Amino acid sequence: MAVRFSCGGVGIAQAGTVVDLRGWVNRRRDHGGLVFVDIRDRDGITQVVFDPALPEAFALGHTLRNEDVIAVAGAVRARPPGTENPKLATGAVEVAASELRVLSRSQTPPFPVNEEVDVDESLRMQYRYLDLRRPRLQRNLTIRHKLVKAMRDFFDERDFLEIETPNLIKSTPEGARDFLVPSRISPGSFYALPQSPQLLKQILMIGGIGRYMQIARCFRDEDSRADRSVEFTQLDVEMSFVEEDDVMAVMEECIVYVWQKALGHAIPQPIVRIEYADALRRFGSDKPDLRFELELRDVAPLFADTPIQFLHGHARSEGSRIVAVRYPGGASLSRRDFDALTETAKSFGAGGLIWISFAQDGWKSSIAKLLDDATVAALREAAGAQAGDALLLVAGPSAEASDVAGRLRLHVGDRLNLRDAAAYAFCWVVDFPLFERDPETGGLAPTHHPFTAPLPGQDALLDSDPLAMRAQHYDLVLNGTELGSGSIRIHDVDFQHRIFADVFKLPEAEIADRFGFFMEALRYGAPPHGGMAWGLDRLAALACGATSIRDVIAFPKNQNGRDLMMDAPSPVPAGALRELGLELKKSR
Ligand code: ASP
Repeated sequence: MAVRFSCGGVGIAQAGTVVDLRGWVNRRRDHGGLVFVDIRDRDGITQVVFDPALPEAFALGHTLRNEDVIAVAGAVRARPPGTENPKLATGAVEVAASELRVLSRSQTPPFPVNEEVDVDESLRMQYRYLDLRRPRLQRNLTIRHKLVKAMRDFFDERDFLEIETPNLIKSTPEGARDFLVPSRISPGSFYALPQSPQLLKQILMIGGIGRYMQIARCFRDEDSRADRSVEFTQLDVEMSFVEEDDVMAVMEECIVYVWQKALGHAIPQPIVRIEYADALRRFGSDKPDLRFELELRDVAPLFADTPIQFLHGHARSEGSRIVAVRYPGGASLSRRDFDALTETAKSFGAGGLIWISFAQDGWKSSIAKLLDDATVAALREAAGAQAGDALLLVAGPSAEASDVAGRLRLHVGDRLNLRDAAAYAFCWVVDFPLFERDPETGGLAPTHHPFTAPLPGQDALLDSDPLAMRAQHYDLVLNGTELGSGSIRIHDVDFQHRIFADVFKLPEAEIADRFGFFMEALRYGAPPHGGMAWGLDRLAALACGATSIRDVIAFPKNQNGRDLMMDAPSPVPAGALRELGLELKKSR
């Protein structure tokens, strides 16, 4: 009797054993009168040899084509000396086929499955089952599985309950558009798919669950980007009777545990905490990439008395910044390089870019005529530039100048290969503002979401200066990407009502309609609570070194929210619409 083995599982220890392997034909070679077939499954690849001495198997072996599905039985033997393949886990042995069955034939695949060649992503998505057979996705999905398994184990060991919340609900506000699902039983009424389980997990706390986690599917009807998708997965967590430090401690322990278990990587602790305002000042971003330094430097005071018109205003204004980004070795750049950098800065939203370089033979600058040696020396000192470096200067209202300088910093980091793909630099960002100004409406909007509590002792600012309020809101950032946000929630119904009514100016009827069930729940003994959610797809992509979350999702949608394999979304028969009481407008 042949013994079942995986295609990655046979080795010299099985020499002499007759094994039964099942899998796909990875490659067939006819060589020296023999037929060699590499058989592949998720576990690996084994070489099978068909010998004309066994004519039946040999003849069938000869007909095999890539991606046919086969069952092979044969004895394991050491490969002849000199033909071992050290790149293959099974490379010391081969299987001498005595029996072959073809379980399924394959058409010629539209792209090679057995090579890591670059294939157009649309084609890969259309034939996802073929892409799934390739090592990259198999590896990524394996890592993703390990991450999720480690998360579940971690929270289970700490007495959290994994609870499923429904997908057909009432709208939850995370600031995006809802996906709507029409109800057949209540014509004219719609469910919303959850943008996150936010209100449900808060209600679980009111329900006395105390510690909740879920690997939750969320839906946001937004345009996809490299790190966003209309449908995505979160690790969602909520805890009762906690303060910021409690939640952050658990989540920090979790990421350390998960990275160790799934990747064998030890994250140094404690993970640094950076205040939001500091992150903007030092890195020009609330999700700083700490894999490299090149901190931004404020140089406005050096221009306090400058005759340079466009700097003068920003140098003296409270709400402006003049920021220097250091470009190590940048003095070797040509004028054309600096012109290109200026265009890059403009594409980031800058009005322009000033550069100064410190070459051996003296300094040069885009505004050389307007600068003097003393100012340049002071700038160099203030920005920590060395001989051979250049400085890129950005001036403008603080938010814009920070943003442009932050992007330039990343750009310089990329050009100098400082953003090491194999490094993991985590940080916490804390002390976010509770509200920000919505550029479209001019009104106040929550920085996180409307359930986030302010720092203790700040309630009075709600009337006098809401924009000065800081939130009990924390983000976990990895390599310049936000992994997730969390906060301590408001558990006082009156305060929650003031947020809706006084700050966001929602009419009573709308508060009642959208949040009535939640406000009601808050009236029945809501414990203090808080939590966090991590974007699992993003986290997995970073863990796998993948550039897109689509490479860690088995069946991803493309940038237009389409599933190219199933061809969804797609029109439905008129009868289905009629049943829902819906009618489509004629397309214009
Ligand atoms: N619900 C939030 C989000 O999806 C996370 C949280 O506050 O727990 O971003």
